[in-house]
Amino acid sequence: MADAPKTPPAKPQAGGRAASKKELPDHFKPYKHVWVFVEQERGQVHPVSWELLGEGRKLADKLDVDLAAVVLGPEGAETQHVVAEAFNYGADLAYLVADPLLRDYRNEPYTKAMTDLVNTYQPEILLLGATTLGRDLAGSVATTLKTGLTADSTELDVDDDKSLAATRPTFGGSLLCTIYTLNYRPQMATVRPRVMPMPERVERPVGKVITHPLGLVEGDIVTKVLDFLPARDSATSNLAYADVVVAGGMGLGSPENFQLVKQLATTLGAEYGCSRPLVQKGWVPSDRQIGQTGKTIRPKLYIAAGISGAIQHRVEVEGSDLIVAINTDKNAPIFDFAHVGLVADAIKLLPALTEAFRRRLS
Ligand code: FAD
Repeated sequence: MADAPKTPPAKPQAGGRAASKKELPDHFKPYKHVWVFVEQERGQVHPVSWELLGEGRKLADKLDVDLAAVVLGPEGAETQHVVAEAFNYGADLAYLVADPLLRDYRNEPYTKAMTDLVNTYQPEILLLGATTLGRDLAGSVATTLKTGLTADSTELDVDDDKSLAATRPTFGGSLLCTIYTLNYRPQMATVRPRVMPMPERVERPVGKVITHPLGLVEGDIVTKVLDFLPARDSATSNLAYADVVVAGGMGLGSPENFQLVKQLATTLGAEYGCSRPLVQKGWVPSDRQIGQTGKTIRPKLYIAAGISGAIQHRVEVEGSDLIVAINTDKNAPIFDFAHVGLVADAIKLLPALTEAFRRRLS
């Protein structure tokens, strides 16, 4: 139920932003403070939660309100550690629902915990990671609360009138639109991992923790957890957080040539990725796709071989510290944003680089 995209410059007009703003019902006015959902699985916090606390800090400072972490999990030391870490990443206070029923993620109890917290303590902004879990939870929380949700935001800011301005790509990534939730509270947004920078972790004492009961028994929950199987290929999930990424695109011409990307990645101790057409052709698994419909990366070094640099790829790699592009076409769009451009045949250059690094690193 997010309001329509804003068309800059903002002009007061009937049905537009200025008109809608006046309509904020009185019962939404007490909604204050910025909340970040801290996503954890068996005590392992998804790093996107810390990235969001960093971003939430900026919003809270602009609004002159508190930044709160929301921690849902089982009772015990693991959950307490997550709460403590939230303060180290900048939270002013934490809301905690600790209950054995929250040990493994299930939509019903998590939605109940979150919506009860929101209805009781009334935040004006609620941020979640656009992870598998975060997307599932955000959708059901927004629907239950009948409020607006901007999914996969790439930029968050506070407008002159203190509304949350959540920007995200639209029309296949060719345009950015800024979405406001003017008439509903809280204003919700999800953000993908690695879109926001990781804030500095500073050791701080644990601050105020507000505990809230879950108010459910197992019999109230339809979904049952039968077993917990950790992901087998844990390396794949590291693509978004890798320091070095080597990726290949259609310029490689065949799945056999894509092995050249993997070989360089292995030599460098890097993760490998690809552009979307390689996934569509079935050459590379989908969890290796980089881009708007794949993963966002922010490595120290990104080597892109045979990738043209289409906007849907560009927007999710631009946070990399150093982008090295290898392309036979000197006019390829990737050279517009690469820091180092190599006009070369990747099929010849990749093995040469692998060999050179192998000699140097051995
Ligand atoms: P191409 O565009 O075919 O480019 C191949 C490049 O290789 C060219 O620049 C060519 O000059 C170069 N080349 C050719 N031979 C060689 C050689 N021997 N050595 C070196 N260079 C060579 N794309 C993504 O990547 N990720 C996404 O998440 C994504 N999401 C999308 C979502 C939507 C809604 C849409 C509409 C598109 C999306 N795309 C995405 C697709 C995107 O628009 C491009 O089509 C895609 O990124 C192109 O992939 P590519 O650069 O590998 O291939």
